[in-house]
Amino acid sequence: LIQLYLPLNFLGFVYREMKQSLTDMEAMFALMREQREVADAPGAPPLAPGPGEVRFEDVHFGYRPDREILKGVSFTVPPGRTLAIVGPTGAGKSTISRLLFRFYDVTGGRILVDGQDIRTVQQQSLRAAIGVVPQDTVLFNDTIGYNIAYGRPDASQEEIVRAARLAQVHDFVLRLPEGYDTMVGERGLKLSGGEKQRVAIARTILKDPRILILDEATSALDTRTEQEIQAALRQVSRDRTTLVIAHRLSTVVEADEIIVLQDGRVVERGNHAALLAAGGLYAEMWRRQAQALAKAEEAAAAQAAA
Ligand code: ADP
Repeated sequence: LIQLYLPLNFLGFVYREMKQSLTDMEAMFALMREQREVADAPGAPPLAPGPGEVRFEDVHFGYRPDREILKGVSFTVPPGRTLAIVGPTGAGKSTISRLLFRFYDVTGGRILVDGQDIRTVQQQSLRAAIGVVPQDTVLFNDTIGYNIAYGRPDASQEEIVRAARLAQVHDFVLRLPEGYDTMVGERGLKLSGGEKQRVAIARTILKDPRILILDEATSALDTRTEQEIQAALRQVSRDRTTLVIAHRLSTVVEADEIIVLQDGRVVERGNHAALLAAGGLYAEMWRRQAQALAKAEEAAAAQAAA
């Protein structure tokens, strides 16, 4: 039996190895495909330094010529301010962040960063100025320290620890068997969604970009995780221009401006109080979320009492 078992076990090993390299390769090719969509204009200069103003001017865009996804979107985020983008699934929220990162070029209107049309500057310099904290962070099969420093390989241990502290992930790392040298990823320790997101926040703090794009997790998190993530997000977005695809009530309430996107158009805009008072789509979304929250709390209380 052992003769049969060993090769099978080995095959299993080879299969897992291959699957992992395929996953890495897929991620790489996906990135390359996205990057091929746009090219630097000949002689394009790097993005000039600036305070980080983001401006969309009547932006139109479709992934295919026959279907327009953004139908004239305009907004300005002043340096250091936070814009929350809310709206139903498929409204075009993620598309806005992909366009700002210039994975694609607009088909009409323009996007300006500190007054510069992003099509006229070197892509690499634009992407260096923008930090992205995605909903689901991919960890490399390496140490957690490497994963935090990814993108800033020259970071010192002190800088890594400082970023991890701000991102509320330092204490977690210290509890791991080998601290910052603990292997994570597919072949190492698996982290929860909340832990991975805090690693991504630490990464972004090290990168120190002037603009931040946050894609908040839609999934429900327990209260403690939620508080830790909110504290980490507050640190990373402080004094940084932030665009957030918002799913959390606390984020939208604190945002300087909220735009409500529906079917590729901005249908409402204002801060939380103004939008509530307007009694439109936002007020309706808020009411439904508050109801869902109350129900969940009732259920939790009933469970605690039982
Ligand atoms: P949201 O973030 O608001 O849920 P998205 O910006 O992801 O919406 O998507 C807006 C629309 O664009 C959706 O109808 C979606 O199916 C379509 N879409 C998104 N990405 C692509 C893509 N790569 N190719 C074609 N269509 C896409």
